[in-house]
Amino acid sequence: MAVKKFTSLLHHLNNAEDGRRWLYVPYDQVSDKIGPLAREEPEKLGIILVENPWKAARRPYHKQKLGLILANLRHFALEQARRGVAVRHVVTNGPYHLALETLSRELGQITMMEAAERELRIDLEGLTTGGAIKVIPHEGWLTKAADMEAAKSKDGSYRMDSFYRAVRQRTGILMEAGKPEGGKYSFDSENRQAWTGQPEAPAIPTFEIDEITEEVGDLINKHFAHHPGTLDLSKIPATAKDALTLWQWARENCLTYFGPFEDAMSSRSNSLFHTRISAALNICRLLPAQVVTDTLELDIPLACKEGFIRQIIGWREFVHKIHRATDGFRQQTNETAEEPGDANYKAWAKKSWHQQVDLKKNKQNVEPDGGALCSFLGSRNDLPQAYWGQQSGLNCLDTVIKTVWDEGYSHHITRLMVLSNIANLLDISPRQLTDWFWLAYTDAYDWVVEPNVMAMGTYGVGGLMTTKPYISGAAYINKMSDYCRGCRYDPAKNCPITRLYWAFLERHNDKLSGNQRLAMPLNSLKKRSLKDKSIDKAVFEKTLQILNDGQILPVDIVSQ
Ligand code: SF4
Repeated sequence: MAVKKFTSLLHHLNNAEDGRRWLYVPYDQVSDKIGPLAREEPEKLGIILVENPWKAARRPYHKQKLGLILANLRHFALEQARRGVAVRHVVTNGPYHLALETLSRELGQITMMEAAERELRIDLEGLTTGGAIKVIPHEGWLTKAADMEAAKSKDGSYRMDSFYRAVRQRTGILMEAGKPEGGKYSFDSENRQAWTGQPEAPAIPTFEIDEITEEVGDLINKHFAHHPGTLDLSKIPATAKDALTLWQWARENCLTYFGPFEDAMSSRSNSLFHTRISAALNICRLLPAQVVTDTLELDIPLACKEGFIRQIIGWREFVHKIHRATDGFRQQTNETAEEPGDANYKAWAKKSWHQQVDLKKNKQNVEPDGGALCSFLGSRNDLPQAYWGQQSGLNCLDTVIKTVWDEGYSHHITRLMVLSNIANLLDISPRQLTDWFWLAYTDAYDWVVEPNVMAMGTYGVGGLMTTKPYISGAAYINKMSDYCRGCRYDPAKNCPITRLYWAFLERHNDKLSGNQRLAMPLNSLKKRSLKDKSIDKAVFEKTLQILNDGQILPVDIVSQ
């Protein structure tokens, strides 16, 4: 791998290694504001940073994601060398434990904050249990495993609302004399406006491309050119300073309007007033404690403040804790995928992902598996090529998919109410959709996508953490977005998504019939005529087949 400029600059800046205590800093912990790097003298510490083509090759990750991680890792190495920390930058091509085992023999016991990703914890398990690596708590989280006690219901399910209330009470965040500010814990009901163009959505921030980031771009274009997605270096916050610039942009441009338009979707803006900080947060370039403190100081409407803080201290922490508590939902199933999934990449690329990457496998070493295979509804269909960029003819889907492959990002309502919704309506395998999110989004890791997609978006673990599947017909998409205005279909007449919605309820009626939150649509289903039900079913079957073939749906699919 070409590491010339970066290597020579690091060599120039680096510090003597004698007598240092060594820390392993994973790819998603690039911060000196937490852990030993925040408290101890830089001159007494050494850090190990591992670049790993094997990790990059496990899935067809979006080029932008590879760029984000690599550019931050390299800039972090230089930032720490400048502070006086000794830096060991290692390139390895296999499971992380192989490189770290060798280093531990040379450098002595290595300390690390607990890995956020289960995949990395499993990779390093032999070293952490054997003592070569000493694990200390990850200081980037605001909540503890004990906070999940409040989230657990008597029936064993977990509820974010209860978790969030307990965290607010314990921390005093947005609380006054033991009561929630404004009289209630959530202002979600006020945060459901569609966006009609005003106030204007802010332009997406861009960042300086220095020679280190440029070299990362060259490396990706040379060695990872077969990965999907567009690489746009100008949109990568690559340094500690860039992350702060992004956060400053978000505070100035987004948070005042975040609340009311939180659920809105538009073809004119991919993020509207969402802050786009999740990718930086999930590698610790920004820390939730800082983000919360800064937000509390802003002079913005309470509904906006609460809505955003709920994402940070509520949902984000909750999904991490539930992933930990359920061992990545392995407690909900005996089935796991042997290999990391490629989200049906082969149907689109016409070649298998694993045949074209040079995975250096060491058969003596156990590699992390491909994750739990959960499907409460028994959905097993393959992800259509439309998710890889093939046009489907459904404007909502095609618009969001394009932004994902352009940027490695779309905001959470498009993820839920377009991408997950349509996958649900087509009975797509929750595992495949989860793997797709994992590889396509710059902010995605196992603890992010398995709860968000497999458990919430697809109802893959039933009611474990959500009360119902997130599904809708065209009416919701039309109400909350402008997608339908540019579509070949009329949401009130011939949109196949509405037919797919009814067909979904009919197919899964047995499993959903006791669900109180679906009582209304299931009652309406009963009144639906046999003729309509037959058309619903036919539209489902035709849609699935046409999208599986990588074709565009015909305009008259409903009336055929
Ligand atoms: Fe999507 Fe239907 Fe609206 Fe078209 S009409 S954008 S397919 S919901």
